Amino acid sequence: MPTTYRNFINGEWLESTSSKTVDNINPANTDDVLGTVRQATRDEARRAVEAAANAFREWRATPAPARGRIVARAARLMEEDKENLAALLTREEGKTIGESRGELQRSINVAEFCAGESRRMNGETIQSELPANFAYTIKQPLGVVACITPWNFPVAIPVWKIAPALVAGNTVVYKPATLTPATAVRIVEIFVEAGIPKGVLNLILGSGSEAGDEIINHKAVRAVSFTGSTETGIRLYEQVSRRGAKVQCEMGGKNPVVVMEDADLDLAVESTAQGAFGSSGQRCTATSRAVVINDVADEFVRRITARAQSMRIGDGSDAKTEMGPSVDESQFKTVLRYVDIGREDGATLACGGARATGDGLDKGYFVQPTVFDNVTPDMRIAREEVFGPVLSVLRVKDFDEAMQVANDSDYGLSSSIFTNDAARIFRFVDEIETGMTHINSPTTGGEAHIPFGGIKSTGIGDREQGSTALDFYTDLKVVYVDYTGRKREGNLY
Ligand code: ADP
Repeated sequence: MPTTYRNFINGEWLESTSSKTVDNINPANTDDVLGTVRQATRDEARRAVEAAANAFREWRATPAPARGRIVARAARLMEEDKENLAALLTREEGKTIGESRGELQRSINVAEFCAGESRRMNGETIQSELPANFAYTIKQPLGVVACITPWNFPVAIPVWKIAPALVAGNTVVYKPATLTPATAVRIVEIFVEAGIPKGVLNLILGSGSEAGDEIINHKAVRAVSFTGSTETGIRLYEQVSRRGAKVQCEMGGKNPVVVMEDADLDLAVESTAQGAFGSSGQRCTATSRAVVINDVADEFVRRITARAQSMRIGDGSDAKTEMGPSVDESQFKTVLRYVDIGREDGATLACGGARATGDGLDKGYFVQPTVFDNVTPDMRIAREEVFGPVLSVLRVKDFDEAMQVANDSDYGLSSSIFTNDAARIFRFVDEIETGMTHINSPTTGGEAHIPFGGIKSTGIGDREQGSTALDFYTDLKVVYVDYTGRKREGNLY
């Protein structure tokens, strides 16, 4: 009997009353059904928000270091269960076991970092222009926050939203993507085992259009942290900001690597392959454009094509697998549709472009790693996020054209450059329109204690993680103190 996943509302695991169900299917082998989600009703979503609202007063009064201790305990529990969780993540989402272990480690790091931050929720003291006066600031929690997460990093993204939200003193309603309920349930179980009080963390498994919509529009929800598609994020931002609540959206990317003529080509090719084909291209930081100087473009395409063709595709639970499947049928079809669009727009298909078949692949959503050459900036495969293992190579004559092409995008998440010319590196850092950039390394990757996020159509609101992790989840209060005991003189504006 496959599991039916349950919601977690006010400290209780409750089966949904909904009759709408969705199976949780292993994308590497569609015969393997992990369980079933009953899509939570609007009423259940509302009850989760109410439970969080009721729990806020007491949680807010719990000292931040005590809240941090619970998050630290969750980090330890995740560490103890790392192998099981990594295996579950691979089975549910399809990424390779190495990638899953990496995601788990990132999650543990984030939780540890946030636990430490609980002892550093400091404000500042500010000198006054008046004698015997000073001011100071305090960080205060917001109330109920909603964490709305996608399926591509179903452990790390929830943890990097939930952990700082809790440490800051907020109560949480967490709604993961429908495709990844099993990991979501495990995350909540771990926080519960770590000692989260009743109502402080609630889980709603349901669709975006019903349960998600109900949560984000509930007036008790004071902030929404969202990661997902640009289309959904912009719509959500409009709705939530209209009623004056805070919103943080982390959305799509179309991340370029620039390969200069002096680049270490082996390094550029290997890093581009990692960025483009790692996690089957399903990272928001995935490399989807290679902007290559003409002089080295033939050689770059030759080598990246050879590398793509050598990739070992398969079930991610096999340690030898380098690339797993697309997450589901819909994503798989989207990727193949973009291959057709690339062809129709006149790009040259250098390799891949089809379903990967053969030994052990026929029951999964496997797509061949794909490289398009001679892509021009106006083509849809140069502009739209594919979220699959598809790399577009755009040839340019010099550095200036490379910068122009790299910046010719609505998105602005990540980027990288391959060169050893220091002046060009610093010009690139200065001029590239992305929130994060990498020098001589892939566009992907990030660390728990370093801010993460993008600009342009990629990101709205405060950056997640690192020194900025708590900014979104707190309000800043300014306190003026006057110890003169006299009527104010001066500063009367
Ligand atoms: P993806 O294709 O990565 O799932 P989406 O943007 O569609 O990207 O979804 C990201 C998350 O946002 C998911 O948890 C989804 O259920 C949720 N979501 C989608 N639509 C809405 C909505 N209207 N209101 C609230 N949440 C939503």
